[in-house]
Amino acid sequence: MKRSCFANGDPVVRGGCHHLQLPGLSGSSSRQHPANGQVINTSENPPDPVTDIGFSEVGSSILSGLGFQEIRMFIDSHCHLDRLDLSAYEGNLDLAVEAARAAGVDRILCIGIDLENGPEVVSLAQRYEDVYASVGVHPLDCKEMVPDIDMVRSLANHKKVVAIGETGLDYYYATTEGVQAVQRQSFINHLELAKGLELPVVVHTRDAREDTLDFLREYGSREFAGVLHCFTESLAMAKAALDLNYYISISGIVTFRNACALREVVEYLPMDRLLIETDSPYLTPIPHRGKSNEPRFVADVARFVAELKGVAPEVLGKKTSENFYRLFYRAV
Ligand SMILES: [Zn+2]
Ligand SMILES: [Zn+2]
Repeated sequence: MKRSCFANGDPVVRGGCHHLQLPGLSGSSSRQHPANGQVINTSENPPDPVTDIGFSEVGSSILSGLGFQEIRMFIDSHCHLDRLDLSAYEGNLDLAVEAARAAGVDRILCIGIDLENGPEVVSLAQRYEDVYASVGVHPLDCKEMVPDIDMVRSLANHKKVVAIGETGLDYYYATTEGVQAVQRQSFINHLELAKGLELPVVVHTRDAREDTLDFLREYGSREFAGVLHCFTESLAMAKAALDLNYYISISGIVTFRNACALREVVEYLPMDRLLIETDSPYLTPIPHRGKSNEPRFVADVARFVAELKGVAPEVLGKKTSENFYRLFYRAV
């Protein structure tokens, strides 16, 4: 069953990745943990699948007893673990990671955004067996100076770094020619570094379709390619990126009321080129609006995308996981 554009009653929000904190998303103190997610929601107004049983008081041993850990099938291919709102977990990131595992999240790719948080992202990947890292400087962190790509290169030496980025172009927020020029040079540097290291690139693109595609074509690797993350662009751009061997990653935006065009893109995308992500702590999917986003909610993105594709969530999870391992081949 297709969702209508106005089925969910949620305002249209297009976040600018980590640079746009959406209203009402932080500071939630509710303690909830995920249901097992095996039921496909087909109603126009789906019930919230979370069950309020007080996660941190229950603990992982009880979750294990309920069999939650048996459903391991989703991969959050893009999140910012170092920026999560942990108020629901008493400040303990371990519990947020454990909650993701309990929701069936098998692997998490934690994305660096600048040279300051790069080492932290790498150390998080060291700390958790099921977490990987990508290192780079976000286009909106390119202000006056082109970031030192050698620092990205040195971070990429770590064995759990599986990609370069996020990098790319964001002309929506960066409107001056000077800042856009810095973004372009940084993007070129990241693409060339990734090509040299034979690593895929995590690309952030917004309002810069032609330049993004031109640069991928000119400086990117066809063989190792990468992913256009948190995709919200046109079908034509998706097709052009697919032609360049890139993957397309879908975030919780797909669940938003007015994301009709994006849902059409998802319906078109080949199953073997699709990834899913949360981009947490931003862009919380329906039905969790009002809370800060976290990796466990990738299960909700997966269920929604599965419905659009007309497959069971398990199938969607399996296919997107296969895609993840094919693209981020260093992740094992
Ligand atoms: Zn982004
Ligand atoms: Zn991001």
